[in-house]
Amino acid sequence: MKLLVIGCGGVATVAIHKCCQNPLFTEICIASRTVSKCEALAEKLAPTTNAKLTTATVNADSVESLVALMKEFQPHTVLNVALPYQDLTIMDACLECGANYVDTANYEAEDTDDPEWRAIYEKRCQEKGFTAYFDYSWQWAYQEKFKKAGLTALLGTGFDPGVTSVFTAYALKHYFDEIHYIDILDCNGGDHGYPFATNFNPEINLREVSANGSYWEDGHWVETKPMEIKREYHFAGVGQKDMYLLHHEEIESLAKNIPNVKRIRFFMTFGQSYLTHMNCLQNVGMLGTTPIEFEGHEIVPIKFLRALLPDPASLGPRTVGKTNIGCIFTGIKDGKKKSIYIYNICDHQEAYKETGLQAISYTTGVPAMIGTALVASGTWSGAGVFNVEEFDPDPYMDMLNQYGLPWVVDENPVLVD
Ligand code: NDP
Repeated sequence: MKLLVIGCGGVATVAIHKCCQNPLFTEICIASRTVSKCEALAEKLAPTTNAKLTTATVNADSVESLVALMKEFQPHTVLNVALPYQDLTIMDACLECGANYVDTANYEAEDTDDPEWRAIYEKRCQEKGFTAYFDYSWQWAYQEKFKKAGLTALLGTGFDPGVTSVFTAYALKHYFDEIHYIDILDCNGGDHGYPFATNFNPEINLREVSANGSYWEDGHWVETKPMEIKREYHFAGVGQKDMYLLHHEEIESLAKNIPNVKRIRFFMTFGQSYLTHMNCLQNVGMLGTTPIEFEGHEIVPIKFLRALLPDPASLGPRTVGKTNIGCIFTGIKDGKKKSIYIYNICDHQEAYKETGLQAISYTTGVPAMIGTALVASGTWSGAGVFNVEEFDPDPYMDMLNQYGLPWVVDENPVLVD
């Protein structure tokens, strides 16, 4: 089976490592903006796999560039692990070339000052009640096109979204008649030793974390100020951590796909030093996305900041500790109220030893391969645009155990108030 992977950053590197371990993928083309990174990875992995590895340069912002590559390589499925800015161009190219589409993050506009995009965004903020720059409406709008083409688009198969949504489908299938409350807890207990760095793409990460929070309750969004809601929680394998409520993309799809759900919240842990740095950078304007003029050059502050910060792909050797990401579900089974907690613990150094990347890239790249494999093998099939919780979770849960992200079900969890 021919797979085209677009992007060659931290998440892509792990996903490609894992694709090389899966005999389903017989030919893998690694294509990205900087082809030297693709070549270095292909050279490293070639001796470890039977898959034929090739590389290519592609500009994923251009449908034309993508189509030219896809016409030449003729992939069965395309895994998009570039940036969310490229989701729509890659989906368009897949439609034109008859390939299935898989990604890990929903569409986000790169230029949030574009008046055409802004008008649609502001209308959506009013109608839906949350102000995040990313949402599923852009990609869900491709439903008819993918249906007509007889192709599958699988959205959001990273860890969160991705595994957290599969945990939800699994809990509903095996433990509950109805799920009423979902708390998604994302804890990174890792320490990279830098005063400030982000664990994945700094631009995407800082835009997400500095935005308003929100949660879903009784059929509508409740929006909060950034970091307004704080809780403490004791995470297995990590210990006691502060966590903060964020808006997160799987809330939107779970609210649509999980019947009877009353509330969905998402919490992420942050240390005080991270928050102090982020607030300071925000206060001085370094998180801005609007270009400014500096000594005759046009600079986008957040892009300049990205160039200054450590490359997330370089954090692997220095990050120690573990992540613990999972979901606490409360609902009804056989008329009785119950709660369970499904989570995975991932060790940064073990992830590094296997792939050269830390656990944040690992916990995203492994499920990216799993979702891609399920689509490519036809185990998950259907024409249209799907979120992962819409398919049978069992084969995905088995592959998490098989490919390095084993999970635990705690039937007596401590709840978050
Ligand atoms: P990186 O910045 O490390 O990698 C992005 C890659 O995409 C780079 O190789 C980059 O090329 C390439 N790229 C960017 N723009 C283009 C373009 N126009 N044309 C071709 N290639 C391009 O990001 P990460 O690996 O950290 O993240 C990858 C994706 O995973 C993101 O969408 C992120 O949001 C998502 N993610 C999802 C998570 C989840 O749990 N669902 C968690 C973490 C991340 P170059 O090397 O030249 O810069």
